[in-house]
Amino acid sequence: MACLFCSIVAGDIPARRIYEDDKAIAFLDINPWKRGHTLVIPRRHVDDLLSADEALTEIAPAVTATARLLTERLGADGMNLLSNAGAVAGQEVFHLHLHLVPRYADDPGMRALFDRDTTIDLDEVQAALSS
Ligand code: AMP
Repeated sequence: MACLFCSIVAGDIPARRIYEDDKAIAFLDINPWKRGHTLVIPRRHVDDLLSADEALTEIAPAVTATARLLTERLGADGMNLLSNAGAVAGQEVFHLHLHLVPRYADDPGMRALFDRDTTIDLDEVQAALSS
């Protein structure tokens, strides 16, 4: 079965890319929890965090660079990093991805993390993150 995120890597499906290197790409989550919610994925197909020994290592530089970009450009005060591995953990797209969720001082704490914010303008966020 075709993989949605492999199609994004290939450029067959549009995504709001904000960072990429030779191993990974980062793009805005289409249904964000918070302003700047971003997914970092390996270019190669890996089902999840538990499926390949080096997958997390190879996307680590992109995770760090993207976290810095989100912090510097959006003025985030903190960040949550999360990866769901397996359907029982809530994984819906079975291509490894790390959620990077910028957090802001006026909306703190774990309890406030998971409500999707349908008021976020993704075009505006992408513009704020592009040079
Ligand atoms: P998970 O539940 O950890 O598998 O998360 C999958 C994430 O992918 C969700 O937060 C979705 O909003 C996000 N998502 C699904 N389709 C797209 C897409 N085409 N572009 C960007 N994000 C997507």
